[in-house]
Amino acid sequence: MILVVEDEEALAGVVRSYLHRAGHRTAEARTGPAAVLAARDLGPDVIVLDLGLPGLDGLEVIRRIRAFSDCYVLITTARAQEPDRLAGLAEGADDYLVKPFSVRELVARVDAVLRRPRAIDGTAPPVAPTFAVGGLEIDEAAQQVRLEGRELALTPTERGLLLTLARRPAQVFTRRQLLESVWGDTWLGDDHLVDVHIANLRRKLDESAAAPRFVTTVRGVGYRMGKG
Ligand code: CA
Repeated sequence: MILVVEDEEALAGVVRSYLHRAGHRTAEARTGPAAVLAARDLGPDVIVLDLGLPGLDGLEVIRRIRAFSDCYVLITTARAQEPDRLAGLAEGADDYLVKPFSVRELVARVDAVLRRPRAIDGTAPPVAPTFAVGGLEIDEAAQQVRLEGRELALTPTERGLLLTLARRPAQVFTRRQLLESVWGDTWLGDDHLVDVHIANLRRKLDESAAAPRFVTTVRGVGYRMGKG
């Protein structure tokens, strides 16, 4: 189910009707507080979240939702709100669309997200039941990641990035390859998105870009698993 959070009634109506036509069930919220409640009560698979909302700032909405949910969050913002968009990703949003956006593209992104687990399972070699390196354990079957025995609260995007890197520890991945693996090959956005999510992941892994233990930046190319 897709939760559409949008205070512009006309836009919400168009988004809803396109999603219905593509076969999705939807629910709606018009304000920040209503969005948090709906996310908690309905457990949506995807939240399409306008950042400019009455009642509660969109960034605060993401922060509150991330306290109890790892569902996919796609933010929508006006072009002038670049800092908000980046802040939204840093708070745990997975992806963004700039207004005015193509509703068709929005539906394509939602479809790509919902196909994700299958795409990951179908094309990548299976990781050992538990992948472990230097205190980090990835239990793919249970969808759990533990650091020194403590379970980490990763978003699906962060988990997808980590799994992609962990499955082929010898390989250096370009940002584009990571985007295709985690976001799907229909994704049209910019490579910078990968850097923001890797930064979030590193924060949760308690490591810095300067002295990484798990995810290493390969200058001019991308990322690989392992110590720097
Ligand atoms: Ca708005």
